[in-house]
Amino acid sequence: RTVYVNGEYLPEEDAKISIFDRGFLMADAVYEVTSVLDGKLIDFEGHAVRLKRSLDELDMAEPCSKEELLEIHRKLVEVNGIVEGLVYLQVTRGSDGDRDFVFPSEDTPPSIVLFTQNKPGLADSPAAKKGAKIISIEDIRWGRRDIKTVQLLYPSMGKMMAKKAGCDDAWLVEDGHVTEGTSNNAYFVKDGVIVTRPLSNDILHGITRKAVLRMAAEAQLKVEERLFTIEEAQGADEAFTTSASAFVMPVVEIDGVALGNGTPGPIATRLREIYLEESLKAAI
Ligand code: PMP
Repeated sequence: RTVYVNGEYLPEEDAKISIFDRGFLMADAVYEVTSVLDGKLIDFEGHAVRLKRSLDELDMAEPCSKEELLEIHRKLVEVNGIVEGLVYLQVTRGSDGDRDFVFPSEDTPPSIVLFTQNKPGLADSPAAKKGAKIISIEDIRWGRRDIKTVQLLYPSMGKMMAKKAGCDDAWLVEDGHVTEGTSNNAYFVKDGVIVTRPLSNDILHGITRKAVLRMAAEAQLKVEERLFTIEEAQGADEAFTTSASAFVMPVVEIDGVALGNGTPGPIATRLREIYLEESLKAAI
């Protein structure tokens, strides 16, 4: 694979980052993951806007312009021959060659790394046809989940807890209410109404969430943004999650309770189709 590191395109084995980099020492870094379908980038604009917001919230410098970012994404997709897959982007605060809790001086250049992942079958996913089984776990992450940082240890542990329980993913619960999935936003559908938690510092502002809620409104589906419990979701007709890398993923079981008849629901299935069709049309 060819990867991008701080201005250079390199074979992955030649790519290097300092051991003093604050991304490595302190998780002082933000990221984005952009899907590639048909060799094109899905919602690049949404990712670029959120990246800028994450950087601003952490007083981190922009490593390059949006136009340069787009060019790097496109070049990596092209040289690596990605038809279906992902582009991973990470920006860190860099380093001044030492370890210190105090941020390095403002002229310290940020580090930027991009690489691709080849994922044939991303759109026509067997997992989406089966639907996901979910466990619930307590949300013990930090209080600024709206910033897309690389602090992914607890979400990663949650995913492992789910696997150990014979499930696919975990939904996180705080003060009795579902926040989101380990790497996706969470929804249920009852009597034709789609329910999801409102935006705040408690959840990531998913760009797929934004697109899917717009498409749901366009399809005359009712949406309620409010807090909800696991018990309420267990009593739903269907449920699903959204993310840039899995699009709309039907949920068929929550903490051992099957939803509906235990297969992907009609609204989740329809939203997945609409999302894939519309976002592929708009891909660049
Ligand atoms: N919540 C969390 C915690 C996530 O990690 C992600 C995926 N990065 C999402 C939600 C979904 O966001 P998006 O649709 O922008 O991928």
